[in-house]
Amino acid sequence: MACLAFLAGCQRDREHHAQFFVFGTVVEVSTWGATDEQVGRAFTGLQQMFQAMHRDWHAWEPGLLTDANRAFAAGEPFEANGQIITMVRRAQAIEELTGGRFNPAIGGLVGLWGFHTSDYPVIGPPPGREQIDALLAQAPSTLDIHVDGMSMRSDNPAVQLDFGGLAKGFAVDLAVEYLRELGIDNAIVNAGGDLRAIGSHGERPWNIAVRKPGGGVVGVIEVDGDEALFTSGNYERFRQDQTERYPHILDPRTGWPVKDVASVTVLAGEGLLADAAATALVVAGLDDWREVARALHLEAVMVIDGTGDVYLTPAMAQRVRFTEDLGTVVTVD
Ligand code: AMP
Ligand code: MG
Repeated sequence: MACLAFLAGCQRDREHHAQFFVFGTVVEVSTWGATDEQVGRAFTGLQQMFQAMHRDWHAWEPGLLTDANRAFAAGEPFEANGQIITMVRRAQAIEELTGGRFNPAIGGLVGLWGFHTSDYPVIGPPPGREQIDALLAQAPSTLDIHVDGMSMRSDNPAVQLDFGGLAKGFAVDLAVEYLRELGIDNAIVNAGGDLRAIGSHGERPWNIAVRKPGGGVVGVIEVDGDEALFTSGNYERFRQDQTERYPHILDPRTGWPVKDVASVTVLAGEGLLADAAATALVVAGLDDWREVARALHLEAVMVIDGTGDVYLTPAMAQRVRFTEDLGTVVTVD
């Protein structure tokens, strides 16, 4: 559940912070230059918004999304809400653009792998190959979902929505939109290192840490304006048996976890796209990430492989200032 941990003013009351617990991570909201009254309203409102998102979008705790998945399985129509419809529509477009590498209709597979849990690592062998193949044969896709106003239905009963790959990004976007409605134009909404920043920190830009595989920070990016920075990786959430690690990002085309890259960092104009894209590019791997990034019209992308080598687009190379030595750094045009 979301909860407001603290509310504090500092730096001559120009900077305010609050923390919320949602989607299994701490969301930290920082504002610059807002009044006490503005942030008071903002933090109370955000608390309610995050709570509602947690309840409505959760992939396995009973709520609106699990009800929707039950309706899909039964071939019945389901009355959703505007946020869920937006995520479905955006997911459909991104699934197509990424050639099916990003596919939030694979909730059945994610559950089969035991990843519908907050308790990591998951211990034990992978699911049986026959079970995986049986789900794969049903080919669940967000494109099986038909939307009519707020109503949606699936003509494939195997469709089970799991928004784990983009929900944080959309939540951050909605939070930013709300802050702006209240007249707060300088802020960071940071969900465990994945964030969107708007405006600036007074006279200087926001300094944003770029996460690295295994925890810690690889570098810093300055944001002045409006940008989202998201990192997806194979290092935090995984299943472990005696011999192997099976990361939580699955290739929807094989039903198996992807291991090629350690992390992908994406800079984009909005959280939803940055979040979904980071997940999709982990699936695309070292061979295809550049092509898929182009299809998504992303300019600034960084990929770190299993040995610590770094691949950057020229736009990312211009923006990131490394604070740590990694492996070889290659700019890929
Ligand atoms: P992220 O941490 O943003 O990379 O999202 C990972 C989460 O997205 C997983 O925990 C699953 O819930 C879900 N997921 C896993 N594989 C995929 C995929 N190929 N496409 C869309 N969502 C996925
Ligand atoms: Mg993601």
